[in-house]
Amino acid sequence: MRSNIIVPSASVIPVCVGRNRPKQFIEKASSPPTIGPIADNDHVNPGDEVAALEVLIREHYEHEIEACEELADFSENALTPWGGRTIKKAAIDDPPVADEIFALGFARSAKTYKAAVRLAKQGFGEQAAMLNRSLFEGMAVGFWVHHNEEEASERFIQAYTYDRYQQARSVEQAGWLSDEDGPYGPEIAPEDLADLEKQFGKYGERPWTGHANIRELVADIEDYWPEDEHSLLWNFLRVVHRDNNQLLHATVSGLASAGNRMDGEGIYLSIGPSLARIEKGLFAAYWPFANHLDLLVKRFELPVQEELDEMVSRQQYEFRRLTADEVKDVGRNDPCPCESGKKFKKCHEGRLLV
Ligand SMILES: [Zn+2]
Repeated sequence: MRSNIIVPSASVIPVCVGRNRPKQFIEKASSPPTIGPIADNDHVNPGDEVAALEVLIREHYEHEIEACEELADFSENALTPWGGRTIKKAAIDDPPVADEIFALGFARSAKTYKAAVRLAKQGFGEQAAMLNRSLFEGMAVGFWVHHNEEEASERFIQAYTYDRYQQARSVEQAGWLSDEDGPYGPEIAPEDLADLEKQFGKYGERPWTGHANIRELVADIEDYWPEDEHSLLWNFLRVVHRDNNQLLHATVSGLASAGNRMDGEGIYLSIGPSLARIEKGLFAAYWPFANHLDLLVKRFELPVQEELDEMVSRQQYEFRRLTADEVKDVGRNDPCPCESGKKFKKCHEGRLLV
C-alpha cells in the first residue's frame, strides 16, 4: 500500500481535458465536408515563428513546464547513483527478476517522459499525448510487477520467447530468409504455442502481463492504491488515457483534431506546432511519471522520498487552472482557492482557465 499521494487535486482532470474542440467540430459537420481554400489557422512556418511560438508556450504554461522539468531533473538525480546500487541479479540464461524488469520499465518511461515534455514545449501537444499513453501503461505495469514478482518474471520470459518466435515467423512468411539462414527464432512446441496465443493474443496484441487489456490491468492494480484514490486512477484511465488513445489511433477524434471546418470557407488544417493541448500534454505526462517515480523510490528505498513528497505536494497546484467564477470574490491577499496555502497574488492570479 502506498503511504502518500501523488496526485494533483481531482479537479485538474476536467480542467485538463475539458475543452473538447473535436466534439464540437464533429457535431457541426452535418453535411459532407467541402474542401475549399485550405489555410492553416494555428500552423506556423519554420524559423523565427516557431521560436516565437515556443516563447509564447513557455510564458503561458510557465508553471506547468517548470514542474515537469523539475520532476525530470529529480528523476535523473535520483537515478544517477544507480550503477552502484544493489539490484537482484539473475544469471544471463535465467528469466529476468522483478527488480530488473521494474528498472527496465522505469528507464523506458523516463526517456519517454522527457520526449513528451519536450514535444509539448515545442507545440506538439497531440504528439505528446500519443506518448503519454505509453507512460500510463508503463506506470500500471510497474505497479503490477512490484506486487507480483514471480508471475512477472515468468510471464516476461514467456512473452519474450513468444514475441521472438512470432517475429521470426513473420520474417519467414515475408520470404526474407534465404535457405542458408537456417532455422530462425526460438522453437516452441505446438501445444505450448496454443497456450501462448491464448495468453498474449494471436498477434501478440495483449499486454505481456497476461491481462486482456489495460482496463483489466488497472482493475488488478487498484488495490495497491489507497482506497480514496481508486476513483482517481479509474478517472485517469477513462478520461485522460482514453483521450490520448483517441489521438494515437485511427479515430474520428484524431482526425477532427487535425483541423477546423469553417462555415462555407473550407477546412483549416493544423500541420505544424501550435498551442493546442499543451497543458494536457504536460499534465498527462507528469501524473503517471510522478507515480511511477514514487514507486521506484519506494521499491529501491532511494534516500529521496521526503524530498519527492515535498516537491510533488508543492507542484500539484501548478496544474490547476481556476475559472473566472472561482476567483470572482477573491482578494489579492486572500488564500488562493486552489488550496495551495499561498496567497492568491502569489499563486493563481493572472493564471486562469481561458
Ligand atoms: Zn493557487
